[in-house]
Amino acid sequence: MLNNISGIVFVKFKFYGLLLMGLMFSCEHEIYFENAYCIEKVNIVDPLEGLKKIVNVVIKGNKIHQIGNPHQLKLSPKNKIIDGSNKYLIPGLWDSHVHFYFDRQLALHMPELFLSTGITSVRDTGGEFHYLDSIRQNALSDPKTHPRVKIAGPLIDGNFNVYNGSVLPELSIRTRNVSESIAETEKLVAKGVDFLKAYEMLSPEQFEAIAAIAARENLRLAGHVPLSMEITHAISLGLNSLEHIKNLELEAVKKSDSMLQERRKMLENKSLLSGRELRGNIHQSQKQFAVDHIAANAYQKILDTIKKYESYQVPTLSIYKVPIYKIFRQDFWRKSFKLLPKSTREQWEKNADGSNDKIYPAQKKFSDWIQKTTVAMAKAKIPLMAGTDTPLGYLTPGFSLHYELELMVESGLSELEAITAATLQPAKYFRMQDSLGLVKKDYIADLILLNENPLEDIANTKDIFAVIKDGNYIDKARLDQIQKDISNGMPITAMD
Ligand SMILES: [Zn+2]
Repeated sequence: MLNNISGIVFVKFKFYGLLLMGLMFSCEHEIYFENAYCIEKVNIVDPLEGLKKIVNVVIKGNKIHQIGNPHQLKLSPKNKIIDGSNKYLIPGLWDSHVHFYFDRQLALHMPELFLSTGITSVRDTGGEFHYLDSIRQNALSDPKTHPRVKIAGPLIDGNFNVYNGSVLPELSIRTRNVSESIAETEKLVAKGVDFLKAYEMLSPEQFEAIAAIAARENLRLAGHVPLSMEITHAISLGLNSLEHIKNLELEAVKKSDSMLQERRKMLENKSLLSGRELRGNIHQSQKQFAVDHIAANAYQKILDTIKKYESYQVPTLSIYKVPIYKIFRQDFWRKSFKLLPKSTREQWEKNADGSNDKIYPAQKKFSDWIQKTTVAMAKAKIPLMAGTDTPLGYLTPGFSLHYELELMVESGLSELEAITAATLQPAKYFRMQDSLGLVKKDYIADLILLNENPLEDIANTKDIFAVIKDGNYIDKARLDQIQKDISNGMPITAMD
């Protein structure tokens, strides 16, 4: 009996002793992070590793300071802790095809609109250099409250440039010959553009000269395939990103060379049409025909070439689908106009009200074909980037990028592939993949905290709990306030 009692006492002592030791052990390993905050027990969606469940993430300064399993990375209650349970942390999103210069009134609010919808970086694909540079400099001087901005400056176009400022905004520079193309490209390089963009009315010689400068400077060369060329030629010369899959179909037919000859004849432009009209006529005479006569072999050869040269593709599915399918007339889309500043909102509403709901079969076929080609590219492991063309075509800045992701998934990409196209791929494109685009230790803390799992439904990227830009935690209340202020036409104030 006595023995038994002493046995129990001993066991009890041992139990509490272990408990005490355990507590001491865990106290010793609970860590306090100074000047930091922690997102506790959150799920991570990483472009490379997929879903990682229940981890602690520590953000310090502008970086992801630590990531760890809660049993190993124990957080002292003294830390500033955000409850991440049942939430999903993804890298901040890029819209890789925007035009600030297209609507300068709206552009005043675009950085905040982007950030408030989780778009932490954008790639501007054409506009006046100094204007875009000022937006880029704002972002560089205050990265915690502005999305990162990468710029090409103006489109470099040929003698009959399309965006010459007469009907369309002046997004391009006219270069009449090879030496002008070289001179203008060198000027842009000297000014410090982040990449270059070549346009449709260039001659092959002009395009080649621009591509040589891009290669020498180690700058990406974006663009449309010039109408004087075929896509495989342009890509082999250095077109390492193609916007809107533009003019791919013109080579994907049986007798593409005779079509090329016909285009070159038209490009002589004997009747001196404007660049806009001339391009319109060429598209009119060839694009639909090409999509109606795609030859499997020619099409496959093009995809193989794109893959071989790792040329990034920015399909901009929304700039096709939203206007062609008249998505902008639908309620869910019209609601997004509420995000816009008053003058833009009224203009867009007026234009949308005055539109009809007619869907043209030929245009629909083209939009569907672009979606099919996008999934064929994804299957071929061609690098894709999510971009929209906002603010053209009723594409509400920020909101439309989330729709682009939905269209990618609707086309046949997985949710993770769509997220990768808006995170890791653009980081790779700008050779920043060692510091941006993943949820990883020491990476820049550009992140979105979501309420629901985007791998279950890509539309969940819109269900935002908080946006983190350069380490700056912007909670939902603040995001809502920013959007309210834009829509009420409040003066633009830096976010804190
Ligand atoms: Zn564009």
